[in-house]
Amino acid sequence: MSETILRYVPADPYWQPSPEVADTAVSLLETIAAEADEVTAGFEDEVRFYDPGENWSGVECSACGADAEEWWGDAMDTAAADGFKDLNIQAPCCGGTVSLNDLRYIWPAAFGRFALEARNPEIADTTEEQDRKIAECVGIPLRKIWVNV
Ligand SMILES: [Zn+2]
Repeated sequence: MSETILRYVPADPYWQPSPEVADTAVSLLETIAAEADEVTAGFEDEVRFYDPGENWSGVECSACGADAEEWWGDAMDTAAADGFKDLNIQAPCCGGTVSLNDLRYIWPAAFGRFALEARNPEIADTTEEQDRKIAECVGIPLRKIWVNV
């Protein structure tokens, strides 16, 4: 059965909130996505890539705009081998130094060590106001990712 996940990831991929702040953010998201099966906050030791599942729509180089899908997989493998400690790479298309986290993911995706998520939230989308409140609660700008798995 397919699932929909509404996920928020800090814009700074290395950043984590305190557990107390995460609990407060979970409570807030529970009020916004009251019909969700589950709202959770997940902490990771190492940076990981939060992909949008079936919503994946490709990726472009942030320096030159070229389609990056051809080299992206290899760049991911290289960075993953080092636990994503360094997200900066030299883009094969134009030679520019770019962060994997700042490439143009056509459908939003993000790197991070923390994710706040609602499983099957049963809402079409959140409002900008709700997004802003969650970011204020967590204490850092967030990227919002709608995931289909
Ligand atoms: Zn490029």
